Amino acid sequence: MTGDRSATGSTLTHLEGALSGTTYPADEPINTDPADGRPLLPRYDMEKAARTLTKDSLARRRSGGMWRWRELLPVRDPANIVFLGEGDTPLLPQARLGEALGVPNLFTKAEGLNPTGSFKARGMAAAVSRAVELGARSFVAPSAGNAGGALAAYGAAAGAAVTVLMPVDAPASNRHEVLAMGGRLVLVEGLINDCGRIAGEIAAATGAFDVSTLKEPYRVEGKKTMGLELAEQGGWRLPDVVVYPTGGGTGLVGMWKAFAELEALGWIGPERPRMVAVQSEGCAPIVRAFEARERFAEPWEDARTRASGIRVPSAIGDFLILDALRESEGAAVTVSEDAIDKMQRLAGRTGVGYVGPESAAALAAVPELSRRGVIEAGDHVVVFDCGIGQKYPPPPGLPEPPVVDPSDYDLESLVDPVDSRYSGGA
Ligand SMILES: *Cc1c(COP(=O)(O)O)cnc(C)c1O
Repeated sequence: MTGDRSATGSTLTHLEGALSGTTYPADEPINTDPADGRPLLPRYDMEKAARTLTKDSLARRRSGGMWRWRELLPVRDPANIVFLGEGDTPLLPQARLGEALGVPNLFTKAEGLNPTGSFKARGMAAAVSRAVELGARSFVAPSAGNAGGALAAYGAAAGAAVTVLMPVDAPASNRHEVLAMGGRLVLVEGLINDCGRIAGEIAAATGAFDVSTLKEPYRVEGKKTMGLELAEQGGWRLPDVVVYPTGGGTGLVGMWKAFAELEALGWIGPERPRMVAVQSEGCAPIVRAFEARERFAEPWEDARTRASGIRVPSAIGDFLILDALRESEGAAVTVSEDAIDKMQRLAGRTGVGYVGPESAAALAAVPELSRRGVIEAGDHVVVFDCGIGQKYPPPPGLPEPPVVDPSDYDLESLVDPVDSRYSGGA
């Protein structure tokens, strides 16, 4: 390491066991809390942060994406920041879909605009940068798909070796992006939790740093910036409801932490959005635990859903997700696979874009949230659009396009389907 160690202005002070409350030094590599195997959360000197991080200074930082929040991020030496453009995604009003769903103030946070097409970029940017700062030169992680692509990208940019373990049925584009960026890919005939166990064994055997989500302290810090941005984009007023497709829950946990840090800075008050976790009917351990008022979630047996990013049968941060849902008076709801398919096409037709199935799951929960009163009339609702649809197999039921010979075709046969598509028909 060279130069002034605090040149980024990071005010990271120590790590704290999220369950045990035990404190640990932050400047050595560590995975989970040695006391209980649960997540470690970074803590900052908020008074010191407030000296250089002000609403004005932040507004003047026009470039840097999520690293504009560097006082509240863990990297101390700017030379260690691996920046590929992550963060500062737009908050887009979705009037047409909002009208269709009876929620006029519907917004999406367009996370698919991050490098590698999903918000996994934020977490991996923070984790890889900080681990490199602490001496890591190779990484290993399990992934349902997008985390692997993001790790491959940030690993390659940092000049580090990457190994990714994915379920054998992970989307082809996710497998290809890892390989194209020089990552080593291992396909596992099992689920993400099986991949996680093998990743841990590879880390133990090789010394590669395990960047499984919430099994090291810093991916959550990258995802925290989504909550910081929501506050900034709302003019320091948080939305009424935040709807999040939940797998490992890192984004929910991160945003909840962000709001606490912003309150400590005095930038927002104690009000919080109602936080909503959305899962598929085929894999809903958090919803089940929420409904049963459990503190922790039992692993889900036989998990299946086309929304691979939320096919997570058990999350190490389960209690943190559940705490955020309850403290915010939020909710946890499931959606059917059919609702995901239908919403993916409705979002496409109403101008949200070609969203991934996880984003479609979150959007598909909106009508049910209105029925339950979690969303009230006039509420500002932010739904996380976590990743682009192009990386997944297409939604079932797309029309078959006609194939024509350019020197011999029947114009009339082409006119009808084109017209009905543009008039908004299914
Ligand atoms: C990983 C992922 C999720 C789930 O995010 P968590 O913060 O791990 O719960 C949702 N959508 C997409 C597209 C993902 O890649």
